[in-house]
Amino acid sequence: MAVSKKAPPPRITHAERVIDAASGITKGELAAYYATVAPSILPHLQGRPVALVRAPDGVGGELFFQKHARHGEIAGIKLLDPALDPGHDPLLQIDTARALLGAAQFNTIELHTWNATSRALGKPDRMTFDLDPGEGVDWQQMQEAALLVHVLLDELALPAFVKTSGGKGLHVVVPLRRQFGWDEVRGFSRAIVEHLARTVPARFVAKSGPRNRVGRIFADYLRNGFGATTACAWSVRARPGLGVSVPLAWEELPDLGSAAHWTVANIGERLAVGNTPWNAMEGSRTALGAAMRMLGYLP
Ligand code: ATP
Ligand code: MN
Repeated sequence: MAVSKKAPPPRITHAERVIDAASGITKGELAAYYATVAPSILPHLQGRPVALVRAPDGVGGELFFQKHARHGEIAGIKLLDPALDPGHDPLLQIDTARALLGAAQFNTIELHTWNATSRALGKPDRMTFDLDPGEGVDWQQMQEAALLVHVLLDELALPAFVKTSGGKGLHVVVPLRRQFGWDEVRGFSRAIVEHLARTVPARFVAKSGPRNRVGRIFADYLRNGFGATTACAWSVRARPGLGVSVPLAWEELPDLGSAAHWTVANIGERLAVGNTPWNAMEGSRTALGAAMRMLGYLP
């Protein structure tokens, strides 16, 4: 009989512990979700540094945001070359289902990725626009705002893909050719957001801070700097109800009820759709020069 040389998946301890009082979901059920969704989530994790949001006491307990780790801390996880982020323990990368379950065993609920791959960490391969509703902004305004972002990106001939955050907002992702460094990409994403805030000031604000946001949507370009991360597609969120971040087709957005429409409890029917709404992403990676010129941005 052939003996598998592959390391077994890590055992999930305290599997029966409820991690979210709102849904009653246990640590074991969360790990089972990640095991099931592995084929869909791994393409978003592979090759990129990842940060973990750990919740040893579950949702509502203290959350730990972890970008680095030492050898042996998390079963199966890849530790990257320490030279990539000098002065810290190595950055982390999840390339396999085993590492994903290692993270789940380590009480990870959320997985946040960089906008660059670890092999070319100096050159981002996407821009992320995080659309956050300010106080008093309802979901319909969020939907409209995301469609406005889409229209602007379309005008700039930039491909755009949308996902629910699994929390309150939406994330818009623009896949890039690796061309510019962080300063240029972040600078240009800021120019895009400032253009939006100038053009539709009733809806958008480019400045952070809750006071600036009342009744408006903050489009956060700060997700586009070195070391910045955003919850990746299919990540569960460490919030009551355990929302899931799900890739959408733009046509689906008008009919969607909320950013936390899908949760660990009801994600089942969506798993078959998987990443198909984002199938065109890899093939649509774009250079930024033309869009920069259109907006009058000098890198
Ligand atoms: P929502 O739609 O509800 O706004 P979101 O995913 O867009 O959800 P948050 O969960 O508030 O927003 O994300 C906060 C941002 O800060 C993310 O980019 C995340 O990677 C980052 N982050 C979260 N916690 C920390 C931390 N302790 N230290 C540094 N960065 C963090
Ligand atoms: Mn957000």
